[in-house]
Amino acid sequence: MDSTRLVVVSNRLPAALRKNENGDWKVVPGAGGLVTAMAPVLRDRGGTWIGWSGTAGGAEVMDLLASFSKEAGYELKPVGLTAEEVNDFYFGFANEVVWPLFHDFQSRCNFNPRYYHRYMDVNRKFAETVGQWSAEGDFVWVHDYHLMHVGWWLKELGINRRTGFYLHIPFPPVDIFLKMPWRTKVLKALMEYDLVGFQTYRDRRNFIQCLKLFYSDVKAKGRGPVVRISNDERTFNAGYFSIGIDYRQFNETARRPSVKKRAQAIKEADENRTIILGVDRLDYTKGVPQRLEAMRTLFENYPELHGKITFTQVLVPSREQVPEYMALKEEIERLVGEINGQFSQPGYTPVQYMYRSLPREELVAYYRAADMALVTPLRDGMNLVAKEYCACNVSKKGVLFLSEFAGAATQLQNGALLVNPYDVEGVAKAIHQAYHMDDKEKRQRMRKMQEIIRKYDIFWWVDSFLQAGVSRGLGDFPPQESVDYAFFEMGEDYIDDSLSSGT
Ligand code: UDP
Repeated sequence: MDSTRLVVVSNRLPAALRKNENGDWKVVPGAGGLVTAMAPVLRDRGGTWIGWSGTAGGAEVMDLLASFSKEAGYELKPVGLTAEEVNDFYFGFANEVVWPLFHDFQSRCNFNPRYYHRYMDVNRKFAETVGQWSAEGDFVWVHDYHLMHVGWWLKELGINRRTGFYLHIPFPPVDIFLKMPWRTKVLKALMEYDLVGFQTYRDRRNFIQCLKLFYSDVKAKGRGPVVRISNDERTFNAGYFSIGIDYRQFNETARRPSVKKRAQAIKEADENRTIILGVDRLDYTKGVPQRLEAMRTLFENYPELHGKITFTQVLVPSREQVPEYMALKEEIERLVGEINGQFSQPGYTPVQYMYRSLPREELVAYYRAADMALVTPLRDGMNLVAKEYCACNVSKKGVLFLSEFAGAATQLQNGALLVNPYDVEGVAKAIHQAYHMDDKEKRQRMRKMQEIIRKYDIFWWVDSFLQAGVSRGLGDFPPQESVDYAFFEMGEDYIDDSLSSGT
């Protein structure tokens, strides 16, 4: 690959600005998988990361980030946002329009036109910042649903750059996307990128079907993960690149003696019962109430499992200032209380619940201690918890229950027990079956999943997107032969122009 300079653009910078006890700002580096994978690439190629600093901006912020940039080995450039902008662009358009609609929750959308106008203004601000801190020949990689219009604005402003966009969340089916009042503008904006990346084949297919509905002359050509899309006005590439995790780092952490000891302590505190684990951000897409109903159904339908299984739910606080999210938290806590009220016995609490973020080692110890993981989102772009659980399963005897509606199901379908999260009896039945599954089958399943997660890790993801984006090559794309997409694609991985446009 050549050494084109890279400019990463995301809603938030990979470092947060926080006030310390004295009221002074300090920079706290981010620790997520994306930062871990992008940092060496940015250092090697030279590059810049542009994003919201979490403040309205100012000289002080620029100085702080400049000194942090020196240590990081790449530049961090902030976009300052006012309180109104954060409210309408972030809480409004991003979180009340795109997030629910793209996760198939159309009834939760608030299509307030003010949100869209502010979204456009903020995307313009981001594009101007890109223009300021990049040069022609750089590759600009824009991330996620907050910034779909940045590529369009770059063109409008006459800033000529090679661009790629990656959507971390799902792209909805045609019938749902149609509800968006600004649907043609969104499609047009996405078409302005040179490469548009999705999590799964299904997301890319939905996107192409939407394009075909609005542009009768759109043609998609090619086989494999990246296809070329063209009409009279534009030619660009669209691909799917399932995001991975830093497998090696999770696996090594899980093998640490301190983590092993902590995992044993968690198991013993639960009197060596079978532990089922759920780990989610507080969000309605995660299906936590349905999951609790499935646990209730399990205890009702299979009384022989009373006292033998416990369910631990870690719920990570998120968007707490939004009343809907607090109502969801209350609903979850009511259900936890009800189920424990119904099935607790002396020395046995069937549902354990934590409402907080766990430090990394503690989270990994829970992953390692858990005999089963219940990952049942109603819709999810990928779901990294499913992959992290497998990476930390040192015994290889863990069982993963995975929602059919998580992007991860396309990769892990051969090892996970796929479930429909709305089917609470079906989920309960799957848990009952897994309780009696022999160790040999458990190990076979877990090995398959670990192989895929190790091979297609976060570093593979960065490389494959950049190969497709920077070199514009379709030929040198890493093979995906071990990933069987048959579940969603019915064995079909070819976009044929003779296929109907979905109308
Ligand atoms: N996570 C965390 N603290 C916790 C529990 C989880 O930081 O206490 C992380 C977890 O390691 C994972 C992320 O939160 O990387 C959740 O990612 P996922 O793709 O599952 O869902 P998202 O929240 O992005 O929708």
